[in-house]
Amino acid sequence: LISKLPASPENIFSKMSGLANRYNAINMSQGFPGFKSDDRLKELVYKAMKGGYNQYAPLAGIPELREEIVKKIEVLHGKKYHSDSEITLTAGASQALNSAISAFVHPGDDVIIFKPAYDIYEPIVKINGGIPVHIQLKGKEYTVDWNEVKTKISDKTRMIVINTPHNPSGTILSKADMLQLENLLKNTNIILLSDEVYEHIIFDGKKHQSASAFPQLSERAIVCASFGKTFHNTGWKMGYCVAPEILMKEIWKFHEITVFCVNHPMQRAFAEYLKDPETYLSLPQFYQEKRDYFLEQIKDTRFKVIPSAGTYFQLLDYSEITTESDILFAEKLVKEYQLASIPVSVFNINNQDLKQLRFCFAKENETLDKAAEILLKIG
Ligand code: PMP
Ligand code: GLN
Repeated sequence: LISKLPASPENIFSKMSGLANRYNAINMSQGFPGFKSDDRLKELVYKAMKGGYNQYAPLAGIPELREEIVKKIEVLHGKKYHSDSEITLTAGASQALNSAISAFVHPGDDVIIFKPAYDIYEPIVKINGGIPVHIQLKGKEYTVDWNEVKTKISDKTRMIVINTPHNPSGTILSKADMLQLENLLKNTNIILLSDEVYEHIIFDGKKHQSASAFPQLSERAIVCASFGKTFHNTGWKMGYCVAPEILMKEIWKFHEITVFCVNHPMQRAFAEYLKDPETYLSLPQFYQEKRDYFLEQIKDTRFKVIPSAGTYFQLLDYSEITTESDILFAEKLVKEYQLASIPVSVFNINNQDLKQLRFCFAKENETLDKAAEILLKIG
């Protein structure tokens, strides 16, 4: 058998969650909330099922939900997408990312990916014959060197992938970053794939800079979002993407042959739920409190905090504690101390090891307390 997919090591999220289960550890590795999602939302799904919405939805999603999302984007970012031609409901952001890359990347095309990067972009690019072009984010602030980006752009560049707020670092792109990007991409045919799954999880009064908000970016951007991240139900696998009609038409061709449409009763529920903006506008404060609570509990450890401006991830630098590799140290933490995290090197160019672990703080405070006790014991 000749494998069609590029060789990849065991998926780090499956590995660390598997170890967490085996060693009965606190699981701060894979990114998912440890608390319940809103009962009202579940009741809305049940109501939709009871109400008979159990057959296929339209390919792009039900009009009621598409309209609610388009309204939300207009209010937040001032961009009006057409609900009938510029949005698609997908099986999580993952499917949106998959369709977007598959629809536009031809064999031999370059795709610029900033590292560390969420792990699915690169294999999707490769399976389509594309060539990932890596750019390492710089320093502990994980900033973009836009001059370097300029040197990596060529006639072969088909797409550039950005992710803000950023997994795993928790950093965000500023308005100045987005303007630099706009400047680099104007007068090119490069497509921007903007992964904004943590759009509503942003701290310290900062504003999420969506690609939708910048006219010269939105005209070439596919913006991906995830209800799993926003509404605490990653297991429902619901998300969407928005893009100009000319791009969305191509995405539909992929959507049609992969799922055709996604979960109908959940779409009904989200259409109703999204009518109350508090459901997502409350997230920055909610998660900022979680972040600050966790940081307060671990302030007397020798783990150094890499500031997190968004997402529900916190990077901790353990270089004062040991010189062990992050993979070995993460394994030791889960096996000997019952605390699971993610070693960041797996997302870096050449697995560069900066002695940083990623902790997901979307957990009940008592779980964060227990984790902090362990971290205090270690260093
Ligand atoms: N992009 C990033 C940066 C993520 O962290 C995740 C969530 N794991 C996804 C995409 C995928 O989102 P979903 O679970 O909605 O498919
Ligand atoms: N996005 C989640 C994370 O970064 C995990 C997704 C997955 O398990 N594949 O932890």
